[in-house]
Amino acid sequence: MQRQPLVIANWKMNGDRQLVTAMAEALRESAAQHADVSVVVCPPAVLLPAWQQAAFYDNIQLGAQDANEHVSGAHTGEHSLALLVESGASMVLVGHSERRQFYGDNAKRIAAKVNHTLNESNLTVVLCVGESAEEREQQQTFDVVAAQLQEALADCNNCERIVVAYEPVWAIGTGLTASPEQAQEVHAFIRNWLQEKFGPSGANVQVLYGGSVKADNAEQLFAQADIDGGLIGGASLIEEQFVAICNAAQ
Ligand code: PEP
Repeated sequence: MQRQPLVIANWKMNGDRQLVTAMAEALRESAAQHADVSVVVCPPAVLLPAWQQAAFYDNIQLGAQDANEHVSGAHTGEHSLALLVESGASMVLVGHSERRQFYGDNAKRIAAKVNHTLNESNLTVVLCVGESAEEREQQQTFDVVAAQLQEALADCNNCERIVVAYEPVWAIGTGLTASPEQAQEVHAFIRNWLQEKFGPSGANVQVLYGGSVKADNAEQLFAQADIDGGLIGGASLIEEQFVAICNAAQ
């Protein structure tokens, strides 16, 4: 089975209604150039309804940047899967390095979020993994990535609604990008791991690269055999940049 190219925008805590309109318009105008690419936008959750309206006749899917692992209840400030679905989300990022570093998403919580999403909704999980600069220097990249995959996916026996994003922490928002060869090496490792865990269907899991992807490095990264697209932070807030990245995945 051929894996469809996938480009996901992670707006983090950025953007507003004006940018929703402008980005939807830019993606609409360029649609023919990225017709075979699945484009997903993960805005701050409060902007999902605005995106739902702006993109309702386009081929743009929406995603959430995080979801709580409980159905509902006393979880001030959090968002449930049901609310995210009602607001148009069909994917959810889990284990982004910013959430691992600053918001208490440890291995146990990440596994709970993965299991809750897969068992209690139809959403696709985009599991983010990646090593720190120090871990790379100490040649622990493969061990770290394998441990993160194992911790998060231990209870899963089906990979139909799983996407993996390899995001080296040292490349996120820093302007440093893994070279296409460095990224490909880890992507091939992840694909092997997925095949060992899930059997032949593991080969169909989309594995995305994230970490300072820009218009001028996207094509080389996406040309690698095991890189199926990208998870894009900063450059997804600039219309020309994001459109060029979507085009590069075509
Ligand atoms: C991200 O936040 O997932 C990301 C890859 O950010 P950036 O593209 O800005 O490095």
